[in-house]
Amino acid sequence: MIEMLTPSLEDYLEEIYRLSLSTENIRVTDISNKLNVSLPSVSKALMRLKDKEYIKYEPYGNIRLTLKGNNFGKYLVERNRVLQEFLSLICSKCDITVEAEAMEHYLSKATIDAIQGLVKFFKDNPNLYQQYRTYIDSRSTEIENGGFIE
Ligand code: MN
Repeated sequence: MIEMLTPSLEDYLEEIYRLSLSTENIRVTDISNKLNVSLPSVSKALMRLKDKEYIKYEPYGNIRLTLKGNNFGKYLVERNRVLQEFLSLICSKCDITVEAEAMEHYLSKATIDAIQGLVKFFKDNPNLYQQYRTYIDSRSTEIENGGFIE
């Protein structure tokens, strides 16, 4: 299932799904605080998500995910988690939260699926992952020593 939502609307839906896991009463202010956006921006996004049938929502009423919204929200949260796991697995020294956030909207589903396969492969084969870590560690030692004249 590939849905065409803007990165911004994807983030709204992702956050609504996260909130839905801990409360039945999601408020506009919760979303506004989490995403650090204004209340009118949240209302506007909610109307768009409602038009596309991801949520049920009336102004000043409850925000509820439809089945479609729930399924896609779950996928978005999982996609973010997989990318964070991937970045940590390859020992990237980047800010993992920021970079996963940057990657998630621009990679194709095919690439996300492939990355998920790699993450699972290393999880299922810890000995191979250990080999990878050893290789990476020796490589960074080489890089650190690269400046020395022999
Ligand atoms: Mn995002």
